[in-house]
This record gives sequence, structure tokens and C-alpha cells, in this order.
Amino acid sequence: MKIIDIINSGKPLLSMEVFPPKTSDTFESVKEATEKIALLKPDFMSVTYGAGGGTSEYTAFIAENIQKNYGVPSLAHLSCISSKKEDIKHQLGLLKSKGIENILALRGDIPEGMSREHLDYHYASELTEEIKAYGRFCIGGACYPESHPESATSFDDIRYLKEKVDAGCEFLTTQMFFDNNVLYNFLYRIREAGITVPVVAGIMPVTNPKSIKRICAISGTALPQRFVRIVDKFGSSPEQMAQAGIAYATEQIVDLYANGVNAVHLYTMNKPEVARRIKENISSILE
Ligand code: FAD
Repeated sequence: MKIIDIINSGKPLLSMEVFPPKTSDTFESVKEATEKIALLKPDFMSVTYGAGGGTSEYTAFIAENIQKNYGVPSLAHLSCISSKKEDIKHQLGLLKSKGIENILALRGDIPEGMSREHLDYHYASELTEEIKAYGRFCIGGACYPESHPESATSFDDIRYLKEKVDAGCEFLTTQMFFDNNVLYNFLYRIREAGITVPVVAGIMPVTNPKSIKRICAISGTALPQRFVRIVDKFGSSPEQMAQAGIAYATEQIVDLYANGVNAVHLYTMNKPEVARRIKENISSILE
């Protein structure tokens, strides 16, 4: 099933992101976690893709498994910065052969020290164009309510985002954010810029505060004081932090639905229990 048709149904939806194993020794535990998440019956599941291509076969495998054996439509991520044209052709053929109908077209982070000369792809818009020309797939793209960290200004970022959408993105999924007003402001600005495709709001439940400050610094995501205080107060107790993080994410999601943002994507970090508790908190809203 095409993600754009699921989004266009107009009902509040909750999708979930999982990541594939990086190495074969974690394969079974990751597969099990993704299957437990699939059993929660999210509206669709997205499966990330390693920037260096290391987990590319696993992405296709996990995406196929959750779709074929659990009946959950899947969205396979695909990044291009480290790939040659023939690698991308191979990936598209692989995804097609596994019955995957949806791709999140990404540039990927630029590996440290990588020369930008002689690259086959520089931006996600080029990959988007290529997938569109290939046909068959529903294509999504990433967007950044607080701007992509490499962008000189938010105006540039939105201008290039429009190019990406014009190249063939049918929907966008946001980077995580912890203040919904940031998203509402972003939506206003992209609509003004003529970007009309649906936006899926990415929510990260923070249950382990150790890495969050670092991740936010790298991704350019601001941590509101209200959130910092929660982490400062409860961060040293895993149980308290899990409860507070799930409550915070739930509140964000309820506010999004209440304000007409019907599509919410949960960054599950492969934690079925966290995903389960959040889905349970909003079960009546989703019905
Ligand atoms: P682009 O859309 O190409 O944008 C990258 C930067 O280039 C932006 O600053 C943009 O404004 C600028 N730009 C775009 N076009 C032009 C142009 N023509 N001229 C000049 N500047 C331009 N990474 C992974 O490796 N695997 C994943 O599975 C993965 N999943 C993700 C899912 C989501 C929802 C998000 C938000 C990010 C994900 N990422 C993933 C991270 C992503 O790959 C990085 O953020 C990467 O740095 C940018 O990718 P992009 O597709 O947004 O790039």
C-alpha cells in the first residue's frame, strides 16, 4: 500500500520507525524488536538505511518481513551520498523484488573527510528524481523544522526543500522536535513557499537522556527549558525518565492531533515497550 494513500485517508495516524541491525550478531534481537513493534499495528513502519550502505540488505529484509508477515505497510529509507548510480539501481530492483512500494529518499550524512568531487549524487533531490523516473514507488523526503544544520539560512533550506518536493516527493517526514510551536511555524512557512505535500511529524520519546543532548546538538534540534528540567530531574532514574519521556511525547502527539496535524511518526529506537505505552495512551484518539 502507498503511504500517500494512508496519509490522505485523513484520520489520525501513527507510524513507527525502526533501524536494522548493523552487524549479523545483533540480527536476531533487532528482528525480534521490529516484529514486536509490527504487532502494535502502526499505520506504517519505516526502516532506516546506513549512510555507508552497511545495512542496506538488512533494510530491505526487515521492510519485507514486517510487510509480508505482519501486514504493516513499510517505508524503506534509501540514502545516496556514498552510492554510485549502479548501487542505487541495484537497491531499487531489490526493493521492488521484495514488494516494497514506498521509499524515503535521503542524501545521508556526509562521511568525515569525504571529497565532494566525483560524486554521483550531491542532494536527495537527485535521488528523488531518479526514483521518480524509475516509476512504481511512492517517494517521501526528510525535512527540518529547525533547518538542516548545513543550511546557511532557513530560507535557503525551504527553497531547496521545494526543489526536492518538485522533483517528486509526495510527502515529508520531519526531524524530531520537542516544541510543537516550532513545527506549526515551519508548516506556515513551507505552505507560504508553495510546498503543499503532507508533512508527517517526527516525535522522539526520550527515555534515555544520556545521548539526547549530543544528538540534539548534531541535528540542530533545540531542547526547550521545560524539557531540560524534566531530564535534569528524572534523568538519573531509568523508570522515572521512561515515564516522564513517554508522558512528554504523548502530550506532544495529542497537541498535534488537536491542531490538525494528523500524521505522527514515532522514532521508536527499537523499543517496543515504549511504542506500546504511547500507542495505548492515545488509543481512543486513533480509533
Ligand atoms: P537534502 O535534502 O539533500 O539536504 C541536505 C542539505 O543540502 C540541506 O542543508 C539542504 O538545504 C541542502 N541542499 C539541498 N539541495 C541543495 C542544492 N541544490 N544546493 C545547495 N544546497 C542544497 N540518514 C541516513 O543515513 N539513513 C536514514 O535512514 C536516515 N533517515 C532519516 C529520516 C528522517 C525523517 C530524517 C529527518 C533524517 C534521516 N537521515 C537518515 C539523516 C539525513 O540523511 C541527514 O540529515 C542528511 O544530512 C541530509 O539528508 P536529506 O535527505 O535531508 O538531504
